[in-house]
Amino acid sequence: MTHFQILIIGGGNAGISTAAQLLRKKKGLQVAIIEPSEKHYYQPAWTLVGGGTFNINDTIKKEASVIPKGAKWIKDAVISFQPEQNQVTTKTGNIYSYDYLIVAPGIQLNWNWVKGLPETIGKNNVTSNYSFDLAPYTFECIQSMKPGMTALFTSPSTALKCGGAPQKITYLAADYFRKHDLKGKIKVDFSTAGKVIFGIKKYAVELQKVVDKLGVEMHYRHDLIAVDGNNKMATFKITDENGITSEIIKHFDMLHVTPPQSAPDFIIQSPIANEKGWVDVDKYTLQHTRYKNIFGIGDATSTPNGKTGAAVRKQAPVLVQNLFSLMEGKEMKSKYNGYSSCPIVVGYGKLILAEFDYDNKPSETFPFDQSKPRWSMWILKKYILPWLYWHKILKGTA
Ligand SMILES: Cc1cc2nc3c(=O)[nH]c(=O)nc-3n(C[C@H](O)[C@H](O)[C@H](O)COP(=O)(O)OP(=O)(O)OC[C@H]3O[C@@H](n4cnc5c(N)ncnc54)[C@H](O)[C@@H]3O)c2cc1C
Repeated sequence: MTHFQILIIGGGNAGISTAAQLLRKKKGLQVAIIEPSEKHYYQPAWTLVGGGTFNINDTIKKEASVIPKGAKWIKDAVISFQPEQNQVTTKTGNIYSYDYLIVAPGIQLNWNWVKGLPETIGKNNVTSNYSFDLAPYTFECIQSMKPGMTALFTSPSTALKCGGAPQKITYLAADYFRKHDLKGKIKVDFSTAGKVIFGIKKYAVELQKVVDKLGVEMHYRHDLIAVDGNNKMATFKITDENGITSEIIKHFDMLHVTPPQSAPDFIIQSPIANEKGWVDVDKYTLQHTRYKNIFGIGDATSTPNGKTGAAVRKQAPVLVQNLFSLMEGKEMKSKYNGYSSCPIVVGYGKLILAEFDYDNKPSETFPFDQSKPRWSMWILKKYILPWLYWHKILKGTA
């Protein structure tokens, strides 16, 4: 058994940025990161890859290259927790003990929750920007569309990372068709299990204008439950206002699926999960509600914010400060306010930058109305944020 002062599970956005901030603030800390993947991904750019305007190779780096100096990378996956003994067990059968544990394994994509999807995804014009392997295929599908065809986009009933991503690719596709004189000739259908276009009125009003302008057909309360790729048929469960359900089958010529998502199975089955399976943390301090030397950060936690990298950026300094307070026997004073952000691409060169907190109150960075589509915010998404991610956020300086 090997012991570490601070053990981090997950070397994604949250795990790496937290490790980097810890080590910057206190040199000499003994930090280890358990992460099975050899690759590290910048997932927010997959939307742009799907729209044919970002190189997929610029969204990936070797995991070894993002591990902060001074941290030890354990290339393994955690399979179970023994919080009473301050231990975790990994896939290879190793046991690691810790003084403090930070849990950041992200969210799990459940492709198999949609009948027929695993068999057809990646072929038959069925695609998803939620996978590194498939995002380039999305653009191939968009380009293959001809007059008279239907492009179908879905969003699930579960929690999901970047709740705006299913819409972003819909708007990019519709704008692509408009630019190629195919507006009105290709049907663009957005079928979502959600009940509204966006949970905050200020942004919802502007998004409705985008939908009207691009001619996107919106269908709410539609939850994708099955796909028949060979016959190009998608089955949705519809739940009406009274809770009465029915099914509808839609034909498609291309289908972009946002898969149902959940906490990772090994978290759901662990003693650190809440009743819904998420890492059970205090939504302000990010400390575990029962095990005081455990913290959670990122998409896998129970905090009721939009699950985004933008949220992680605001969570990391709170976690670091509170962990240091705990180590020094002081009161934990730092609080996360639920900030999240969704850069909603509404066409090529156009972006609405939604920013909000736990109360769904807009919490905007710039001194202008961010609900209006802007070219400057597109530049932020396409050029500035990726740079910030690789050079500042993962280094613990932003
Ligand atoms: C298409 C798409 C578009 C997006 N757009 C945006 C956007 O515009 N803006 C934005 O802010 N966010 C966006 N996001 C969301 C953003 O990428 C995530 O919210 C962010 O990556 C969350 O960080 P995380 O560390 O919690 O999870 P991740 O970055 O996913 O990292 C989790 C890590 O944990 C590892 N792990 C998993 N299981 C184990 C295990 N058993 N043991 C050890 N390690 C494990 C994984 O290998 C992974 O490296 C988007 C995501 C997608 C897919």
